[in-house]
Amino acid sequence: MKILVIEDEKKVANFIKRGLEEEKFEVDTANDGETGLQMAIEGSYCLVILDVMLPKRDGMSVVRELRSRKMMVPVLMLTAKDSLDDIVAGLNSGSDDYLTKPFAFAELLARVRALLRRTELERGAEIRFADLRLDPVTHKVWRKDKEIDLTAKEYALLEFFMRNPNQVLTRTTIAENVWDYVFDSFTNIIDVYVNYLRKKVDRDADKKLIHTARGLGYILKEE
Ligand code: CA
Repeated sequence: MKILVIEDEKKVANFIKRGLEEEKFEVDTANDGETGLQMAIEGSYCLVILDVMLPKRDGMSVVRELRSRKMMVPVLMLTAKDSLDDIVAGLNSGSDDYLTKPFAFAELLARVRALLRRTELERGAEIRFADLRLDPVTHKVWRKDKEIDLTAKEYALLEFFMRNPNQVLTRTTIAENVWDYVFDSFTNIIDVYVNYLRKKVDRDADKKLIHTARGLGYILKEE
């Protein structure tokens, strides 16, 4: 299992590399965004750990470029900021999870393991609900025969809905399963993402599939 760490602060990069190597991962490092992007494109990594503030090319632009090339390697972003806007922007650019600096190694390791586990689960058969179809291998989604273009996080959210249809999913359940953790402002992020998803999945359809369960959360169902 090879992990790429793109981080310009040598101390942080070495701290992550040493820790992950002790856990039997193979680790490559890059000191700037341009080099990191090239390595991510050319190497076969099971995960990329990506700092946001980088010389030459910032982390958000690196992950955006990877996603535009349809490279779905999971990306864990490291950010110095903890504001809702920055988190949403980071997740929107296509990263799968983020960690705020400074962090304990145990926390990083837990996130890494969760992302790798999720990637494993994603390999599998096509999932269908009503006229929605989702391919966990290619991450493609269709409503009727029309392909829907989703960001990595929107995809993860829709997959969670489709794996758990016809049941109310609370914001806490969604946060724990799609983001792996919960904090106070998280309910806002979930509402934001459900709205993104509705625009893409339901707006042009006769039948709405993503419903609000007032005061509880959300439910994927046919009326
Ligand atoms: Ca940095």
